[in-house]
Amino acid sequence: MQTNIIESYKKTHLGQQANDILRSCVHCGFCNATCPTYQLLGDELDGPRGRIYLIKQILEGKQPTEKTKQHLDNCLNCLNCETTCPSGVQYHHLLEIGQTLAVKEVELPWRKKILRQLILNVMPYPKRFNFFVSLGVSMSAFLPDKLARLLPKDHKQTLYFEPQTRSRKMLLLYGCVHKAISPDIHQKTSQVLDKLGIELIDENDPGCCGAMTHHLQAEPQTIEFLKKNIDSWSESIEQGIEVIISNASGCGAMVKDYPRLVEKYLGKESVYYEKAVRVAAVTKDISQILSQEDLSPLTLDSKYKNIAYHPPCSLQHAQHLPEIVEQILASLGANLSPVQDKHLCCGSAGSYSILNPEISEQLRDKKLDHLQNNNADVIATANIGCLHHLQTKSKIPVIHWLQLIH
Ligand code: SF4
Ligand code: SF4
Repeated sequence: MQTNIIESYKKTHLGQQANDILRSCVHCGFCNATCPTYQLLGDELDGPRGRIYLIKQILEGKQPTEKTKQHLDNCLNCLNCETTCPSGVQYHHLLEIGQTLAVKEVELPWRKKILRQLILNVMPYPKRFNFFVSLGVSMSAFLPDKLARLLPKDHKQTLYFEPQTRSRKMLLLYGCVHKAISPDIHQKTSQVLDKLGIELIDENDPGCCGAMTHHLQAEPQTIEFLKKNIDSWSESIEQGIEVIISNASGCGAMVKDYPRLVEKYLGKESVYYEKAVRVAAVTKDISQILSQEDLSPLTLDSKYKNIAYHPPCSLQHAQHLPEIVEQILASLGANLSPVQDKHLCCGSAGSYSILNPEISEQLRDKKLDHLQNNNADVIATANIGCLHHLQTKSKIPVIHWLQLIH
């Protein structure tokens, strides 16, 4: 694609990066075919190719409008278009640049501004988030149905399983919302790994991986999370941690992207860059661990007969591990129901379901139709965001796939 980036952007590293990405796009439109928002809204500007055009226009000097920003913000960041693109266009890097520029130029409507601030100041902080969830649960009878449905059905602080001391030690990424809405996933992770002879070490400073703030273009906050986590996890690596485990694919995808983000925000010469490379290199999704182990000590829960598995975009498109969970479950004897359009996003997408509820709910309902077909009696997935989002409307239980294993 021909570009004519204005001088002020051309001089910057991000401007040059954006120019290279724009030039790699041949404008074929294959990506539109797998874009959930294009399929739903039918507007070229709500597909990847249209968004690439909008970002090109900003970089060429056109003032972004509220509408431009809305088309960019309608993007789920699901990366389905990147999986489809034959030219290897790094769409999400370009989107990040476009959204950062649009945020600087376009004032948000007040309702969205408040919501954004609430998300940024509550969700990435486990104690604050837990406080609001507890408050919501205690007042759920008085809340509108739509809000009450967002609350966890079983809100309790369970004790973590105490494993035997093992010679193999791995560090668990706690994440920011797990403890408040699904502590049992961490407990199950610990139990499963213990059976495989692996001790799970609690993260000394549990908090957010930075994905939430990063996707909302809150740069200083994201940098703070990056530095804090890289320092803390580097220390754990030096103490002999074999792997940093993620049981939420959204967090795993973010941590694996740390080197690029550190380079972007702090530069390759920063002391954090080498450390970020080391942290990302030892970060693995729990499925990557299980796929390398002898699984004979594990058995499948016989409670469910037909499992419908939903592969989160952050696992299939960002971490490029599309079939890994299904292969593990199949090797344990699971009966997996066929699911139509597995490659499409469920509409959860981090804070998207809060900021863009109309699109998010339509995608969720479509996804649930496909998952609940073929006599499935449970839905399993690999990311807490998808799990919680699907749970708000599902007729059958929605669980983390690890919860199918004993
Ligand atoms: S992003 Fe890729 S698939 Fe989409 S129009 Fe550009 S080259 Fe084609
Ligand atoms: S990231 Fe997903 S929603 Fe965004 S343009 Fe690509 S396919 Fe569409």
